[in-house]
Amino acid sequence: MKRLRRRTIIALVLAGALAAGVLFFCFQLIGKGNDWVGFFGTRYYDSGAIYDRNGVLLYDGQTKSYAENQATRVSTLHLVGDQNFGTSLRSVLASRLTGYNLVTGTSLGSHDVTLTIDAALNETAYAALNGRKGVVAVYDYTTGDLLCEVSSPSYDPNNPPSDINENPAYEGVYLNRFFSSTYPPGSVFKLVTTAAAIEQKKDLDQFRYTCTGSLEVDGDVITCPYAHGENMDIKQCLATSCNGAYATLAMELGGKTLGEYMEQAGLLDSLAVCDIHTAKGSFVAQEDGSAFLGWSGVGQDKDLVNPCNMLAFMGGIANDGVAVVPKLVERETITGTSIPAAFPDGKDTYSIYGEETCRQLKEMMRNNVASQYGQAQFGDLAVCAKSGTAEVGGGQEPHAWFAGFIDDPEHPLAFLVLVENGGGGARVAGSIAAQVLAQATAE
Ligand SMILES: [Zn+2]
Repeated sequence: MKRLRRRTIIALVLAGALAAGVLFFCFQLIGKGNDWVGFFGTRYYDSGAIYDRNGVLLYDGQTKSYAENQATRVSTLHLVGDQNFGTSLRSVLASRLTGYNLVTGTSLGSHDVTLTIDAALNETAYAALNGRKGVVAVYDYTTGDLLCEVSSPSYDPNNPPSDINENPAYEGVYLNRFFSSTYPPGSVFKLVTTAAAIEQKKDLDQFRYTCTGSLEVDGDVITCPYAHGENMDIKQCLATSCNGAYATLAMELGGKTLGEYMEQAGLLDSLAVCDIHTAKGSFVAQEDGSAFLGWSGVGQDKDLVNPCNMLAFMGGIANDGVAVVPKLVERETITGTSIPAAFPDGKDTYSIYGEETCRQLKEMMRNNVASQYGQAQFGDLAVCAKSGTAEVGGGQEPHAWFAGFIDDPEHPLAFLVLVENGGGGARVAGSIAAQVLAQATAE
């Protein structure tokens, strides 16, 4: 009897251990199965191909080769990626490319993924950056389709430069700056300050500012490149991008309110684009009456934004207050066929400011182009925009920003151009935007 009891206990313990092991494995499988299949360098699973929206092959999972054309390879590298890129689609889409699911594993074969990206637009954008570091992006603000997304510097994955780790020209090359970087927004941030003023300053239509070229605040001097003019209203202050006027508005609104409007703009959150999480922006609510508060209202001080969130913010203004999260995958099909292999990615939205606030911002951004940046470079496109020249200190040239959208249901495109140490925003970044938009809207 005694021996039988002992054996029963041993059998129960073994059975228990087996059950625990199976449970542990199942939990791991459910939680990490995607990662196992997608593990880089794995040769056990077939991967499908990645195409652009027009069917241009960007990456062939069978032969592990990139696009045929060098300019295509270089300008889409940050999206397609290799093992050096944490946010590449080959990483984040790995389980989709292998066709993995929990029930059948990879037994039903791999999937091809067609992106929303237009590779030809990427090529133009990368060429327009002309070797400078930066970001160019264009998306449809009604559907979320990212048409163009370039991060520079890049390189040809078929022929990586031998000095990539030492040459400063390749600094941060493995980072997709669009998703993973944050930058001081410079004067593009004045849109946030303007929104706060529209909603919180009841007498904003009475607001007038005379710019002498500098404004003394709390012992510091907030400067403009020149005296912008006398008795300017808010529209003129935004068009001339008058730092004095915006520092004055920031002092009236206060740091807490500005921070709230930056948060409402979605600039402090992380967006999930196809499982790629964007870097969060930051804002420090400075003390009332301090020069820091003045600087924060003109997009300097400690303000930081992520380019992807900034693009979606532009789309939100264009879309009367509803921002659409950018997306990258148009469809997923069984490899080598046009048979759908998954439901199309849904549309994800969030609210920014009220409809009337966005309407006013839109009107002012349209006026910026007409009165300051020059409509001629955009042909007859109804471009609404804000430029930014973000000081970065250390004797370096400022970052050039140009962000906005086309106010036209025929071409519902928002755009963002950022040239690191590029100099003047509208001049440098604006001309890149003009080139890319011309191509994006060509019949
Ligand atoms: Zn000024």
